[in-house]
Amino acid sequence: MMAMVEITNRCNMDCPVCFSDANNPAHDVPYDEVCRRLERLLEVTGAPIPIQISGGEPTLHRQLPAIIAHARRLGYRNVELITNGIRASQRPELLQELAGNGLTAVYLQFDGLRPETYRTIRGQDMTEVRARSIAAARTAGLCVTLAVAVARGVNDDELGDVVRFAVDNIDTVRAINFQSATRFTGRFDVPEQGAGAGYPLPGILKLIEQQAGVPASSFRSEHMGHPLCNAMSFVFVVDGRLEPLFEYVTRDDLLSFLGDDSRETVLGLFAGKREFFTRHLCNPDAWRLIAKAAPIFRKPLDVLRSKHLLLFAKSFMERDALDPARIARCCYGITDAAGVYSFCAFNNLYRFPDRPLGGVSHTTSA
Ligand code: SF4
Repeated sequence: MMAMVEITNRCNMDCPVCFSDANNPAHDVPYDEVCRRLERLLEVTGAPIPIQISGGEPTLHRQLPAIIAHARRLGYRNVELITNGIRASQRPELLQELAGNGLTAVYLQFDGLRPETYRTIRGQDMTEVRARSIAAARTAGLCVTLAVAVARGVNDDELGDVVRFAVDNIDTVRAINFQSATRFTGRFDVPEQGAGAGYPLPGILKLIEQQAGVPASSFRSEHMGHPLCNAMSFVFVVDGRLEPLFEYVTRDDLLSFLGDDSRETVLGLFAGKREFFTRHLCNPDAWRLIAKAAPIFRKPLDVLRSKHLLLFAKSFMERDALDPARIARCCYGITDAAGVYSFCAFNNLYRFPDRPLGGVSHTTSA
């Protein structure tokens, strides 16, 4: 499980697809209240889980460095910043300062490579901001997840290009999250079908397969909530080739490796080769996985030279299609003053309870 902690509703953008309806009204969550939410989340989960600090645009909150430091003091090991990248592109040292306070990763709004895509989804060309904010993350030693809001007829032909961009920047970009445009509560009318509409999870996987050559069959949902909500493919990049690990490893192999202590084991799997070998040197299930994956590495040195890229796909639920079974298995929470909720339940039912369905839109609040 992971959870989003919103610390402000202020934003320096005005995206058509903003599901949090940023700036309406504009307000920061006071530092003490953010701390309470972090502590309450800990009580609910029983142990620190990966968190995403979000907004609005969280870099506008004056106490962001203190909030990150407090999260780390509470024991949160994975603290990611959801951002549109504007402030990091204007002041690259910002990410270095935040890394010094304990920030571990950046989740960067990245809808494609074409200026036109950004004009449609974000209301302005963000390509230069993207380049500068990735450079700032590289300098700060922070890894980046590219967050792509997939909208039909807008950027659904750019998924392959985004994967290739990630491979070209693999020293810093370690993951991509393709998440479907969704008719959440925001401020614009997003159609159920046709241009601008979102995709169910299998549709996103098919686009990735067609455009990037990563098979839909290589995506798994074990320990990631409901299979219609989330899927992930662990892809080795070897000499520019994309080699999905789960094409070589069966579901049973994976489950026996993950075992009962799945949360820590999954985090270890994501963390990279050095951490993998440190954690699992004496684990026979891990060595079985490695033996099955051996064909990926055509030359012995490939094991050392290869990098890995995590491809995530995510599809949210609309209010008129909320499925209690999916909510019961939700692994993506969000905190507010009253508690911790399933992300889809919160955005559809509680964020703007008085607003009618279909008043708006979408995917990411970064
Ligand atoms: S989607 Fe993110 S960047 Fe855009 S207005 Fe909303 S909070 Fe700001």
